[in-house]
Amino acid sequence: MARYIFITGGVVSSLGKGLMAASLAALLQARGFRVRIRKFDPYLNVDPGTMSPYQHGEVYVTDDGAETDLDLGHYERFTGVSARQSDNVTQGRVYQTIIQRERRGDYLGATVQVIPHVTDEIKAFATADTDDLDFVLCEIGGTVGDIESLPFMEAIRQLHNDLDRGQSIFVHVTLVPYIAAAGELKTKPTQHSVRELTSLGIQPDILLCRCEHPLPESERKKIALFCNVRPEAVIPALDASSIYAVPQQYHAEGLDDEVLNAFGITNAPAPKLDRWDDIMDRQQNPEGEVTIGVVGKYVGLLDAYKSLHEALHHGGLANRVKVNIKWIDAELFEKGEDLAASLEPMHGILVPGGFGVRGSEGKIASVRFARERNVPFFGICLGMQMACIEGARNTAGIANASTTEFGETSEPVVGLITEWMSKEGLQKRTAETDLGGTMRLGAYPAKLTGNSVVAGIYNATDISERHRHRYEVNAGYREPLEKGGLIFSGMSPDGTLPEIVERPDHPWFVGVQFHPELKSKPFDPHPLFASFIEAAVKQSRLV
Ligand code: GLN
Repeated sequence: MARYIFITGGVVSSLGKGLMAASLAALLQARGFRVRIRKFDPYLNVDPGTMSPYQHGEVYVTDDGAETDLDLGHYERFTGVSARQSDNVTQGRVYQTIIQRERRGDYLGATVQVIPHVTDEIKAFATADTDDLDFVLCEIGGTVGDIESLPFMEAIRQLHNDLDRGQSIFVHVTLVPYIAAAGELKTKPTQHSVRELTSLGIQPDILLCRCEHPLPESERKKIALFCNVRPEAVIPALDASSIYAVPQQYHAEGLDDEVLNAFGITNAPAPKLDRWDDIMDRQQNPEGEVTIGVVGKYVGLLDAYKSLHEALHHGGLANRVKVNIKWIDAELFEKGEDLAASLEPMHGILVPGGFGVRGSEGKIASVRFARERNVPFFGICLGMQMACIEGARNTAGIANASTTEFGETSEPVVGLITEWMSKEGLQKRTAETDLGGTMRLGAYPAKLTGNSVVAGIYNATDISERHRHRYEVNAGYREPLEKGGLIFSGMSPDGTLPEIVERPDHPWFVGVQFHPELKSKPFDPHPLFASFIEAAVKQSRLV
């Protein structure tokens, strides 16, 4: 039977609970345990799919088509375990499920209440589908004390009692702030946060204390005493040089030992950390560096392109180079910023996924620059669509080429998809369909042309990648676009939907309708990112 590790956060948000959960899972996995991480989000949206990236950062898409919290990306990148729909549950979805059941009359006249109905539903989500696991790590979003997270706290409190003794533990992540004027680390916020937690019936077994300065032994003992945990279970967590240094750092501080200890597991093998040693070696000893310009829309908030940021770095790890990313607001090019001056220093240009017309002309102009100047170009999702519109306008003589996403057009080189095949059968949508959860979502297969550039990069002609989009490149424009040099080298298996375009006569020019960044791992960089950065390294030797 799986053991449960419940992870809560206190004092402030943004303490890196997700990274902590991912790192702990990686350490347990390195000892041979089978792990899965789940995230509970207390907000009332059914999923983050309709939230602005500014609100919530990137929407991470799973193979099975769920739109989830970006922490699931960390979980996958650190463990290689593919996340599923059932690994991210919001309070909105819990209530949606309950209310639908209530309307059907399934509660047989009972009054539907937070306890037990909501808490039961949360417990059912936590325990579903866990038979083949040694550890399930459940991260509760938000901070202890939030009104919204109360049902989740209550549910994990109950679950701790429902499970056999020694089957679950609580890890609480807190902040130990440094007060410069006093030159001291302060433990009071941690004490308050643990008091809040114990008032909900949850006594943490382990405290992970984020701090900017080393935690003196005296303070560690003080936290232990006031918070009713063993001193060894107060784990200091200093800021790390890189997120991929976190597993080893937490291991050095004894986190995984303490977790196993709390479960009474004494015979676990030492963790095999060579995978992380190799990543750190590549990261700390680069043999060169490249600069990639990412021309997008949500450039003010790094979290909006979290997986992309990581995947570009993985491409760097594959080539043993440091990747500098320059985030460029596409809209500035429409407001008169000098495009050539901004893009000339770049060794590669990437136009990422996005929604809406804002900045699109700047993106299209950036594609043109990359094409004409032979700079490696990578277009992802909207970026591929922009590459096709650029190709249509400037190499195929279709001056009015556009996408129906930006309004009515006489030349819909990119258009709304209204029908496509999925594992569940034919999917149909119209322009009036709900916005939430109605895109082409999740893993879909594609067939690559045998002798294409991308088939060489993948070393395969059958691939599967994750999608999240509503519009598609219109295959009706294939002929003029290919005449202009933009080759459709990857298609959906039925041959109707363009998945990949490339320019074989260019040093590196690839557009993909899917999101390869979602599947890249530091220990297994995605081939497209590895190849793109390799091309950027070549470019850096030319300029
Ligand atoms: N807005 C485009 C579409 O819906 C692209 C989406 C994306 O880049 N993820 O098709």
